Amino acid sequence: MPKPTYQFRPVTAKNLAQEVMKRSGQNLTACYQCRRCAAGCPVAEETGYMTPDRLIRMIVTGDRRGVFNNKLVWQCVSCLTCGERCPNDIKTAKINDVLKQMAREAREKPQTPKVAYFHDAFTTSAIRWGRVNEPEFMSFYELKNFINDASEKNLKAFLKEIRQQVEFGAAMAKLRRLHFGFETSQGRREIRRLVKKHRQAKKRKVEVNEKC
Ligand code: SF4
Ligand code: SF4
Repeated sequence: MPKPTYQFRPVTAKNLAQEVMKRSGQNLTACYQCRRCAAGCPVAEETGYMTPDRLIRMIVTGDRRGVFNNKLVWQCVSCLTCGERCPNDIKTAKINDVLKQMAREAREKPQTPKVAYFHDAFTTSAIRWGRVNEPEFMSFYELKNFINDASEKNLKAFLKEIRQQVEFGAAMAKLRRLHFGFETSQGRREIRRLVKKHRQAKKRKVEVNEKC
């Protein structure tokens, strides 16, 4: 596969790379494109060979649109193989988690909506209750799928999804792995407070950037 060329966008590159580095804790400037990570990524075929090295290159060259509109961000399975292989200890799974959140904050349409809805349902439930509440989480996830399928007039896809989930749920129930109780965490207020603090700090940063 020919190696793609990237156009350097100095205006967005600095802000984008700095934000991703700060939020993920990964030093992207250490990447020298050796592609050891690419060789081990198990989802490379699924993502059209969008591999960790290419994603990092997009970030440091400031390709904001490409960074949010690729399948690796949504289909990464967090196996951490890339981080294990990287001579500079760059963990792309952490970068992908941050990019998922940034894409949702920027209201970018994800390339794999179901993964985005799963992410939304998971984080919403975890923030509200301090841990994932399974009945709420699954209801929210399926509702979003239904709205998406209905807006695309794809009733067949919705029925297929429901059938799969019922089969999956029955198998889980058989193994006693389904929890219908409304479970919460003792530290849920602390978690909500931390998230609120982070959002306020982010809002302040955006306001400062707009004034500059
Ligand atoms: S293995 Fe590390 S240094 Fe090499 S391309 Fe991947 S992220 Fe960059
Ligand atoms: S953590 Fe994600 S990006 Fe890294 S090798 Fe695994 S699937 Fe690929």
